[in-house]
Amino acid sequence: MTDWIQAHDAPSAPVELDTLDLASLAPGHHRIAIRLADDPAGRPVFAPALVAKGARPGPVFGITAAVHGNEINGMPTIHQLFKRIPPEELSGTVVGVTIVNLPGYLRFKRTFPDGTDLNRIMPGKADGNESQIYAYRVKTRILDGFDVLFDLHTASFGRVNTLYVRADMTHPETAALARAVGPQIIVHNAGGDGSVRGTVASQGKPAVTVEIGDPQVVDGAKIRASRIGIRDAMEQLGMLPPDDQVAPHNAVECTSSQWLYTEAGGVLDVPVVLAQRLKRGETIAYLYDAWGAKLRTYHAPFDAIVVGKSTNPVARAGARIVHLGVVGAP
Ligand SMILES: [Zn+2]
Repeated sequence: MTDWIQAHDAPSAPVELDTLDLASLAPGHHRIAIRLADDPAGRPVFAPALVAKGARPGPVFGITAAVHGNEINGMPTIHQLFKRIPPEELSGTVVGVTIVNLPGYLRFKRTFPDGTDLNRIMPGKADGNESQIYAYRVKTRILDGFDVLFDLHTASFGRVNTLYVRADMTHPETAALARAVGPQIIVHNAGGDGSVRGTVASQGKPAVTVEIGDPQVVDGAKIRASRIGIRDAMEQLGMLPPDDQVAPHNAVECTSSQWLYTEAGGVLDVPVVLAQRLKRGETIAYLYDAWGAKLRTYHAPFDAIVVGKSTNPVARAGARIVHLGVVGAP
């Protein structure tokens, strides 16, 4: 081995499980691989997961990441969180699935290999097509074992997000956990959209989506903030004693949000900044043609806060411009 490579102790091989069988695990930390499918060569397709099983009983707190395969930030968030979960201080069990959509992850893609968005087809179908079967197994082998869900995402390609949370704020336990995370913005969203969060929420369980920055990157500051906030949510549930780090509690809460789209193609410039408060009529974007002539100026259609925005200047007709939140309580 060359002198610039330092070897560390080999970690224990992950334990392969066909389903998230927490009863079979002793108190402590575990590295597991939950088998979800077989590829055409017969190799297992699995979801890597960390489990911290506490010394005392309590809820199963589930965290999922990379349901969209190129949304990486959730994975190091789980890694860092688990370094701060001593099983002897834990009541209940924490499960962190670092990659739900392994086939998408391997291709640097948001979607499943058949082009389907797994976060729109939950709970899938036991006898469906490729992505429906996979979604069904994610639900039955992983999600159904959770009492609480935190689903970690990022923006999509060509867009940036604030650190924001989507949750059904009319569900009191969900609302309390969403606030515990201490994001910049909380958007009320009831679910019912075929999402992982919606599937768990439809069972009456608290379920929160956390949007952590941008795709296919590791963003240290947003990961740290998310890690502190998710740990605070566990503390609020009585699963862990308070530590010395507390998320800020100054989130702007929104009743709804919507994207604005271009209606023409061109070169898009979106000069607003993330979390900027906008008055109705304020300028939010410009569209130019390929010769530099200004084609359109876009204005805020209502008083809003900028939840996310496009960073890709190459705009087709129907390109996303900004994601605007409507400030208020549902
Ligand atoms: Zn996502």
